[in-house]
Amino acid sequence: MNLEDFKDIKSLLSEPKNIAIVSHRNPDGDAYGSSLALYHYLLKFNHQVTVVSPNDCPAFLKWLPAQDKIVIFEKDEQKGIKILEAADIIFTLDFNALHRVGIKMQGVLEKVKPIFIMIDHHQQPDDYAKYAYVDPKVCSTCQMVYQFLKKLDHLEFIDINVGTCLYAGILTDTGSFRFPSTTSLTHKIVAHLIDLGVNGATIYNNIHNVNTYDSLQLLGRALKNMRVVNKYHTAYITLSQRDLLDFNFKKGDTEGVVNYALSIKNIIFAAIFIEDKKQKIIKISFRSVGNFSVNDFSRNHFNGGGHINAAGGKSDESLNDAVANFLNILPTYQEDLKQSYEK
Ligand code: 5GP
Ligand code: MN
Repeated sequence: MNLEDFKDIKSLLSEPKNIAIVSHRNPDGDAYGSSLALYHYLLKFNHQVTVVSPNDCPAFLKWLPAQDKIVIFEKDEQKGIKILEAADIIFTLDFNALHRVGIKMQGVLEKVKPIFIMIDHHQQPDDYAKYAYVDPKVCSTCQMVYQFLKKLDHLEFIDINVGTCLYAGILTDTGSFRFPSTTSLTHKIVAHLIDLGVNGATIYNNIHNVNTYDSLQLLGRALKNMRVVNKYHTAYITLSQRDLLDFNFKKGDTEGVVNYALSIKNIIFAAIFIEDKKQKIIKISFRSVGNFSVNDFSRNHFNGGGHINAAGGKSDESLNDAVANFLNILPTYQEDLKQSYEK
């Protein structure tokens, strides 16, 4: 996006508008953090603003300021449709392809004719948005929102609510400032937020210290189910519907579990396969270290995508077949995995 585009957007937002902010299905900290940060910012200009989310978030995000104002499309479809139809502007945050909102909401978004503004950090964006502020090198959509406000010369409108939401998304998408996407700019932004009064320690606690006995037992099962394929520097985890039921699975309980597979020495490619009988799919998360692209891997074989080192995907097969398929594909990546490992 060039300077003219930012000028256009600034003038567009200078008059009160009907605005919807849309996040992706199965929202994470960055999706809700960025959406709610933008929400709190836009409210200062007397816009009519609503965040519409395809489905609900895990419990560890329920404390985010104004999270309770989010309209959950899956729960209140008529209300969701009305808001999307009435919007002059729709921001889509933390995703870049309309199918990421689920089939019903996608249908609505494809019919309505607002001005679409995409703010995102994933690779290979679709071209539905009039304005697309996208940088796949940036750690999080929350950092993109901060930079967006900077381009509008509106950093002064970051208050404690905006700042708290931005911090939450940066924290979660950088794995608590550990991933290589964390740059000095990320730390400068976070330092600014702390200077504004944002409490990083409380946010960390709210997000991470939320285990239950059951969720830790489920983690134990996941680690037990883990398999290592040394030849390909790969480790994978499976969780069947039975495993989830055994430990009273709640949304969010499997968050971050795949990273345990990646933490093994000499492992650079990790996957977790989670059976979802209700949706009749196997939901897969891929992670890598180095230059092995799980975005490409997932796009090519598992109907998904994301970033170089973190991507999601799905399979319509059974859990066993999805894993067998994965193991069949692995040898074709032997050279890539080896090279990435040796780098
Ligand atoms: P997760 O494995 O945590 O669900 O997702 C990892 C990353 O990949 C996130 O940035 C997420 O937005 C993205 N992602 C997850 N599932 C999909 C998918 O089905 N398609 C695409 N394009 N990206 C996905
Ligand atoms: Mn993100």
